[in-house]
Amino acid sequence: MKQYRFCPVCGGRLDREHQAVPGLAMLVCTACRFEFWQNSKPAVGAFVVRSIDGQPSLLLTRRGIDPYKGMWDTPGGYLENGEHPEAGLARELREELGAAIARPRLLSLAIAEYPREDVAEEARFVLTLYYRCDIVGEGPLVPADDVVEAAWFPLHDPLPQIAFPGAVGPALAALVMSLGEEAAPGARSG
Ligand SMILES: [Zn+2]
Repeated sequence: MKQYRFCPVCGGRLDREHQAVPGLAMLVCTACRFEFWQNSKPAVGAFVVRSIDGQPSLLLTRRGIDPYKGMWDTPGGYLENGEHPEAGLARELREELGAAIARPRLLSLAIAEYPREDVAEEARFVLTLYYRCDIVGEGPLVPADDVVEAAWFPLHDPLPQIAFPGAVGPALAALVMSLGEEAAPGARSG
């Protein structure tokens, strides 16, 4: 795994000190003492459920890039600097599917390791906020960006193998639970 070696302020050598979190060192410049603060990279993922032939069906996208190239995933991606998660969610679905979203509702979150050897040690962890949302209209989805295909999968059937299972798996369980609560007698809708 790659590691940051030089100070982004002065070009001095970075050193690892201060065990802020056990096992994780903080990067400090040996020349100007700049503290290169690291944290998990924020991302968003969308769970879009639509009734198709009377079956609740989940929208998944097939990845065109590594990691997990060729596998199915929730639409979404990294947030930009300062971007609100709901704005990022809308942007990602517009970029990846040409779709406009409505009613974003926070579902769950996950923190997981990004499974790529060439990622820097300091960018290793991803914090993903998973939302449920709707897609406006019935128009065709237009896969683009790092997505090569989009499809609806009935939730009552086994889903295909999912990318980022450590993050998406628990979120999927939260989705199934929330759908069950909505379907239960006396449950509030929405
Ligand atoms: Zn420095």
